Amino acid sequence: MSAPFAAALQARTQEVLDRCTRCGRCFEICPMPAPAGISERNAADVVGGVLDIIRGGHGSPESARWAQVCSGSGHCIPQCPEAVNPRFMLALARVAMQRQSTAEEQHRKGSAAFANMGRGVRVLSRMQLPAEVLRRFRGAGPADAPPEVVFYTGCNVLRTPHIVLLALDIFDALGVPYRVMGGPGDCCGILQFRAGDFDAAGRIVYGTTDRFADSGAAKVLAWCPTCTIQIAENVLPGRAGSPVYALEAYVVYLAGQLDRLRPLMRHPVNKRVGLHEHPGVAGVCESAVKILRAIPGLEYVDLPQMQVGYMCNTLQPLPAFKREVHRTILEAAAAARVDVLAGVYHACHRELCSHETDWPFAVVNFLELLGESMGLRREDRFKRLKKMQDTDAILADVMDLVAAHGLALEEVRAVIEKDLLGEQPLPLRNTHGTRDATSAPG
Ligand code: SF4
Ligand code: SF4
Repeated sequence: MSAPFAAALQARTQEVLDRCTRCGRCFEICPMPAPAGISERNAADVVGGVLDIIRGGHGSPESARWAQVCSGSGHCIPQCPEAVNPRFMLALARVAMQRQSTAEEQHRKGSAAFANMGRGVRVLSRMQLPAEVLRRFRGAGPADAPPEVVFYTGCNVLRTPHIVLLALDIFDALGVPYRVMGGPGDCCGILQFRAGDFDAAGRIVYGTTDRFADSGAAKVLAWCPTCTIQIAENVLPGRAGSPVYALEAYVVYLAGQLDRLRPLMRHPVNKRVGLHEHPGVAGVCESAVKILRAIPGLEYVDLPQMQVGYMCNTLQPLPAFKREVHRTILEAAAAARVDVLAGVYHACHRELCSHETDWPFAVVNFLELLGESMGLRREDRFKRLKKMQDTDAILADVMDLVAAHGLALEEVRAVIEKDLLGEQPLPLRNTHGTRDATSAPG
């Protein structure tokens, strides 16, 4: 099953090499060369180096740097006159660099990243919710009907499970029959793909997309932009035949349901709200704005901000720039005197939520505001725990759930340190130094 993935990538690599004329437009439009310090380089030369890398060569330091700092903003995609997807071209360059190591090393890296992600997701979700609630994250919803849609959570949103619960509550309120897929058992294979392990990546993602087809649902609604881009750009275009389902971003789908949602929005939300945006998946932020504007009582405030990346974790290769992006949005929200800074994606929420201790506004996911208008509320336990900023206090708070799930204390402590408190790119004002020891994949 996996060999076709490698073969498909090889064929698509050749297509990129055949089509790209090195016109350089993608490099010129990209927001990342400036913070990466390579914007003065000749665009055609940088692109030429990228092509050399995907051909198996070493390119140039600037080409490698551009590939590494691509944050997936997607501004380049409509600019290419040759219908190359430059975001995919740069993904190929990154994996080509990984594939200069041995197959064993690629496999080891992919497996280690997957194990690390799996541990964070498993422990953080169990620290927040009992088993009977977590069971909702796999399988059918309450409706006794074939699923109209699959809600594909991906893996890492399960670290902030209140977001998933709200999405499911909204499906229930709409009366949409759904099936939930996601978690490490239904992975998109991105970690193995990034490591260059095409065998494992193909096995995993082909299995997941086969299960999408087997569900019988006409639509797969993806929450996570990492999964969306991996499946829609890296995987499906290389698979034979068209999928029997349409893959759509959940937020775009939700905005399409506004006529059904409006009568359910019975509670005014009298707040000034700004949105933290990422442009990577087309239509998502526009859809979130449309939903916010439809909430009765809510005053939407358009915040000036940099349009980069598809989620905050994509800015990880440029830590100083990422801190600047975070500082800019927090300052813009304060200057606009909003009551709430809302975000769309889970990785951004993990990194920004505890800043509300320092600023005169709340930091929430936008589904919390939609939920409020519909009378749906789910506690953001992740934020409550993170704001404690103290491992022992967090541990004491979650002890009942740790015991109920039979989690090992030392493992929980390690996850609190690394995955909960550790993701803090812009330090809080009341703490010292940056804790951003790592960044989860999505
Ligand atoms: S996807 Fe965005 S960040 Fe990546 S190369 Fe294109 S414009 Fe630059
Ligand atoms: S990928 Fe497209 S936009 Fe970029 S250099 Fe090649 S032809 Fe030009």
